[in-house]
Amino acid sequence: MRVAVIGAGPAGLTAALQLSRGGGADVVVYEAGDRVGGLCRSLDLWGQRVDLGPHRFFSTDARVNRVWREVVGRDYKLVTRRTRIYYQGKFFHYPLRPFNALVNMGVGNAVGCLASYLKHKVQPHVSPRDNPSFESWAVDRFGRRLFEMFFKSYSEKLWGIPCDQLDADFAAQRIRKFSLGEAIKSAFSPRNGARHRTLADCFAYPVAGTGSVYEKMAHRVRDQGGQVQLNCPVQRVAHEDSRVTGVELADGRCEPCDHVISTMPLTLLVKSLGRIPASVETAVAALRFRNTILVYLHVDHESLFPDQWLYIHAPELSMGRVTNFHNWLPELYGNHRTTILAVEYWCNEGDSLWAESDERMIERATREIAATNLLRQAPILAGHVVRIPRCYPIYARGYKTHVQRVADYVRTFRGLTAIGRYGAFKYNNQDHSILMGILAAENLIDDRHHDLWAVNTDRESYQEEALVVKAGMAE
Ligand SMILES: Cc1cc2nc3c(=O)[nH]c(=O)nc-3n(C[C@H](O)[C@H](O)[C@H](O)COP(=O)(O)OP(=O)(O)OC[C@H]3O[C@@H](n4cnc5c(N)ncnc54)[C@H](O)[C@@H]3O)c2cc1C
Repeated sequence: MRVAVIGAGPAGLTAALQLSRGGGADVVVYEAGDRVGGLCRSLDLWGQRVDLGPHRFFSTDARVNRVWREVVGRDYKLVTRRTRIYYQGKFFHYPLRPFNALVNMGVGNAVGCLASYLKHKVQPHVSPRDNPSFESWAVDRFGRRLFEMFFKSYSEKLWGIPCDQLDADFAAQRIRKFSLGEAIKSAFSPRNGARHRTLADCFAYPVAGTGSVYEKMAHRVRDQGGQVQLNCPVQRVAHEDSRVTGVELADGRCEPCDHVISTMPLTLLVKSLGRIPASVETAVAALRFRNTILVYLHVDHESLFPDQWLYIHAPELSMGRVTNFHNWLPELYGNHRTTILAVEYWCNEGDSLWAESDERMIERATREIAATNLLRQAPILAGHVVRIPRCYPIYARGYKTHVQRVADYVRTFRGLTAIGRYGAFKYNNQDHSILMGILAAENLIDDRHHDLWAVNTDRESYQEEALVVKAGMAE
């Protein structure tokens, strides 16, 4: 069996790793970029190693942890998470610490938040059976006042649409049954007690950066007889009588295969299939992605602030998140006494921000980070800008119907599997994409019938719960 895998990110490489094991299949991975890892790739900047924003690895799935551990071996450490939220000129610990929250909010405001939470608890305005917006989901769990403070501005920066037009799915997938009650319980629970997974206070991080996991994975694929070809964008999936026959590359080559596992953007995959029915075309047009701009700043200071990353909720600042790579692992920066920050912005394709020059972006990031007093007046030695198109699938209300229509269409092609964050229009973390890769390979080799469209849904039908953080990851 010859399998073409499109994309060398976590999903594509995991599928290739599993498929090439024991010579199970003849696998070729075609990657458009010049390195592996996709959104999980690492960069070498100013003599240090950085990721594309913060990338912590965390999974409750034993199969995902097994693959990750097999690839990473002992080359990882556990990092104690330290993150805060910047809002109204103050830093709120996240996860919540009662004393810090109380001092920052003031007693009157805190009582107001509690009253607003209790009001919505007694009288929720959405039934769990409804398909709620993110706004009503969050208001019911946290009260309107906390929603306004801690959810609204950040979510609107990230997604670029008002919270009442955002589907609650992304919260259900990412923060599940979390609520103010749960947050308070966790805040008072002993450090080692069971905590909500959103609050996991410890995560595994590879000593050579997140990208090293996928560099190692690519080596293994090659060692097992598979191929990973870089700078090879796939232009078209070829088919005959609704059966996949090969892939056409941008350089004009046409490579025959029996099966294609695609992690390229779902919308582009479908367009590459040729003439599509009008209803599918409408659904494809309705699916939109949000872009990310990362501005790296090289700062002449070695201990600016203690967090690995900060969420910037302040509506007056357009940046959304700041990562401080000096606080991950010393292996990333070695003897350097400087700090690399990544300041994150989100925008749409046509926005003026997307077209802003590197110089303007570096100026903007420097100005905004200085406004938070996090820079401690340290000089910026250099800046570097990375633009990532189609980074976040936007879960606008009604998106599920459109994804369903597109998924049904993809299913009509024998030999075609769509997985991954881009690939299946899922707000995946790397663990979800690894799981999709594992299950896609099982479908081909073991003739299993996993429904890959169900991975990373609130149904969680594929979760094989195993106690994680420390139990699952530590040696
Ligand atoms: C800022 C940021 C922070 C994140 N933080 C975390 C975190 O803390 N923890 C976590 O687990 N996850 C995090 N993620 C998510 C994680 O990066 C993704 O879930 C993961 O990379 C998805 O893997 P994937 O293989 O599905 O897709 P991708 O990583 O997007 O890989 C897809 C690959 O396909 C290639 N490709 C696309 N089109 C073609 C084509 N036509 N031909 C050939 N190749 C093609 C792309 O170049 C890319 O390499 C974060 C993401 C971002 C952007």
